Amino acid sequence: MTSPAASQDDDIRRAARLLLSARYVMALTGAGISVESGIPPFRGPGGLWTKYGEPPMNGYQLFLQDPKKAWEERLSPKGPSKILWQTLGEAQPNAGHLAFVELERMGVLRSLITQNVDNLHKRAGSKNLIEIHGNYTLIRCIACNVRYPGSEAPLHDLPPRCPKCDGVLKSDTVSFGEPIPPDALDKCYSETQLSDCFIVAGTSATVYPAASFPLAVKQKGGAMIEVNLYESEITPLCDISLRGPSAEIMPKLVTAIKEFRQ
Ligand SMILES: [Zn+2]
Repeated sequence: MTSPAASQDDDIRRAARLLLSARYVMALTGAGISVESGIPPFRGPGGLWTKYGEPPMNGYQLFLQDPKKAWEERLSPKGPSKILWQTLGEAQPNAGHLAFVELERMGVLRSLITQNVDNLHKRAGSKNLIEIHGNYTLIRCIACNVRYPGSEAPLHDLPPRCPKCDGVLKSDTVSFGEPIPPDALDKCYSETQLSDCFIVAGTSATVYPAASFPLAVKQKGGAMIEVNLYESEITPLCDISLRGPSAEIMPKLVTAIKEFRQ
């Protein structure tokens, strides 16, 4: 009988071979990889919403009704928002983020869709990155979709206005009820069309539309590799499931790929 550790090593080698034989590898990451950098999740044990209650599901409508008030709340955050802003400011990319960067530099990973808004993939150095739920360090014009660094928001008059088109500026973070910005969504679709293999890490892939991309690749005969602490709804669909934190599994995967290439 093989030990669980030996069988996981086998699975990591199988995953490495699968990634090397694929034509266009993509990845989808979610909250699990952020939690490993100390950012609290929203749901589940220790989750901000579990502790403080769910935020209103019509956040975008509330923003549109009164953008000035939404900006005032953003500029002096309270309760869970305050905790989140503090933790986001202090968080550092972890070994999982860095492994994705290395996979991209090695030419194995072609693009990465993240559901996380924490800027950590970008800070780690990922290049072909789609932040499908936005990036908390950016603000976005809800009219023309141009993004600006948050520090450049003209705050003398709230809500701040787009220097290009005078549209209302909003946090780039996608609110409840807000459509996914069309540029991000279009890129997800066009990249996914090229893909034949997805790594799904730190997410149970149940939030749509993000979840639909690895599932679409799987449905057209591609492969899906899961990296997650727990079994999830997509586990039965995965070719290989690697149980553990991304910060531990992803670097092992990088090492295994390098060994095959030698
Ligand atoms: Zn604009």
